[in-house]
Amino acid sequence: MESTHVAIIGSGLIGCSWAMVFAAGGFKVKLYDIAQQQLTTALENVRKQMKELEESGFLKGTLSAEKQLALISVCTDMKAAVEGATFIQECTPENLELKKKIFSQLDLIVDDSVILSSSTSCLLPSKLFTGLKHVKQCIVSHPVNPPYFVPLVEIVPHPETDPSVTEKTYALMKKVGQSPVKLNREIEGFVLNRLQYAVISEAWRLVGVFQIIVERYREGMKLVLNTFGPVPEFSGEIEQKINQAMSEKVPAIPKHLGARREWRDDCLIGLAKLKKQM
Ligand code: NAD
Repeated sequence: MESTHVAIIGSGLIGCSWAMVFAAGGFKVKLYDIAQQQLTTALENVRKQMKELEESGFLKGTLSAEKQLALISVCTDMKAAVEGATFIQECTPENLELKKKIFSQLDLIVDDSVILSSSTSCLLPSKLFTGLKHVKQCIVSHPVNPPYFVPLVEIVPHPETDPSVTEKTYALMKKVGQSPVKLNREIEGFVLNRLQYAVISEAWRLVGVFQIIVERYREGMKLVLNTFGPVPEFSGEIEQKINQAMSEKVPAIPKHLGARREWRDDCLIGLAKLKKQM
C-alpha cells in the first residue's frame, strides 16, 4: 500500500487500539468520532498508554512514543478524516443499523481505491455491505480486544469483495505486525467466536457458572450455535486436508519439530513474563 494514511471511524476501545497499531507501523492515522470530547479523551488515553509502554519497554514499532503520537490526528468531520485515506477501519458500536448508515455515508464520499473495513465482531459482510456502490472494496477485519496486544485479525470478505482487497488488507495487517487469518467465506460467528462459543457452551453444560458472559451474549451465542452441524467424525477428507497443511507448515522431521517447539517455548516464556507483571 503506497500512501500512509489510515482513517479510523469511532475512537472507543477498539478504535484507539487500532490507532496505536497503525501508528506503531509508521502510518499517519486520522481518528474520527461524533464528539470532540470523546476524541480528546481518546487521545489522552492513547498518549498515556504509549508513554507507559515506552517506559516499560513494550512500545511497538521503531519510532518513539512522541513520534507515534505525532502521527495521530483527530477530527469530527468524516469527509476530512477519510479524504486521501487508503484504508478505513470502522470501529463504531455493534449495531447493524448504525454501521449500515456509516457505510452508506462513506460510500458517497470515497473513491474507487480505498478499502472500507469493519471491526464488527459478528455482523456478516452480506448484512453490512450489500447494496453499496463500493461493495467490492468492503471487508471485515475482526480484531481481538485489544488489537495492540492480541494480533489475531479475522479477514472476512463479502461475496462481492474484490480478491485484491482481501490480499491488500492481509498484507497491511502483516505490515503492522498483526497475525491476519483469511476466511474464504462469511459464516455466523466467523471462526474465533465459533471456537469460543463451542468451548463456552460445553463449559456451560459441564459447570454452568458463566452467568455474566451468558447474560450479555446469550442471543448471539444461540444464533451461532444453532448453525453448528452434527458432531463431526474427525476423519475422512477434512482429516487429510489438516494433515497435509500441518505437514507443510511443520515437516515431520526432528529439526523442524524442534525449532517449532523452541518457538512455542519462547512464546510461553514471554507470556509468563507478561503475566507476572499484571
Ligand atoms: P466502544 O463503545 O468502546 O466505541 C465506539 C465508539 O464509536 C465511541 O467512541 C463512540 O463515540 C463512537 N461512535 C458512535 N457513533 C458513531 C458515529 N455515528 N460515527 C462515529 N463514531 C461513532 O466500542 P468498541 O468496544 O470499541 O467496539 C467497536 C467495534 O469493534 C464493534 O463493532 C465491536 O463489536 C468490535 N469489537 C469489539 C471488541 C471488544 O472486545 N470491545 C472486540 C472485537 C471487535
